[in-house]
Amino acid sequence: MPDIELAAQALASAHKIVCFSGAGISAESGIPTYRDKMTGLWERYSPQELETAKAFRENPKLIWGWYLWRRKQAAQAQPNAAHLALHNMVSLGKKVSVITQNIDDLHERAGSQDVVHLHGNLNTPKCFACHRPAGMAQVEDIVPEEGALIDPPRCGRCGGRLRPGVVWYGENLPKDAWKSAMSLVKDCDVLISVGTSGVVFPAAKLPDIALSAGSTVIHVNTLDVGLGNSNELMLIGRASEVLPQLFAAMASGA
Ligand code: NAD
Repeated sequence: MPDIELAAQALASAHKIVCFSGAGISAESGIPTYRDKMTGLWERYSPQELETAKAFRENPKLIWGWYLWRRKQAAQAQPNAAHLALHNMVSLGKKVSVITQNIDDLHERAGSQDVVHLHGNLNTPKCFACHRPAGMAQVEDIVPEEGALIDPPRCGRCGGRLRPGVVWYGENLPKDAWKSAMSLVKDCDVLISVGTSGVVFPAAKLPDIALSAGSTVIHVNTLDVGLGNSNELMLIGRASEVLPQLFAAMASGA
């Protein structure tokens, strides 16, 4: 039987489905992955250079400008057929939870309500000095040009600089998010891992944790991720094509 049918069967008989998503699911909404070349002025930098506390300390205007630019990209993007197909699985009586490494809000805007952001998100700034959450009201609605240097706003309590509420390289994941992710993964029937290169840890451990707990893991990626377990399936293709196909096969009772 073709893998897509095996995957649809596993999903059709599942009650609890978890989607573990990475940048690839948002790529077709126009938000580049880390493997895509950045455009314009940002070509000079790699995200790994910009997304550290050290970079922010040394050049806060550059890093704040980078995140405002990413926020603009995310705000202009629309959820694609992959985000929507995942949410639509709820209409088939499934409990669908999302654990995402993405800092955009496209899953939520597609209708998903149970979304865990392992790496934070673009709309929860906090103080770099005292770590208190700041709220978006303090962030001016600047729409920056690429590469713009923009002064971060100051914390209303201590005067420190605000930073984005995302997880930078070298930082720990938010404890609550990791705890929620672990319990969802250990308790799901099927985990669909979509558009992730699986190189950023500890998030990348989640598919293996699901397998150890006895779940089926379905990988959806434009590249073959290489399988090592008999409970894993690989569907090679674009998320925006494969996930609607899976939904259609589930809905038709395949
Ligand atoms: P990544 O860039 O390392 O990998 C992206 C993966 O998606 C690759 O395996 C690629 O083959 C696959 N892919 C690309 N286009 C696809 C498509 N149309 N359909 C299916 N698969 C596709 O991203 P990652 O694994 O998420 O990990 C790295 C970090 O990237 C995360 O920490 C995340 O915070 C960050 N990131 C997030 C966004 C966002 O919020 N949208 C964008 C860029 C990077």
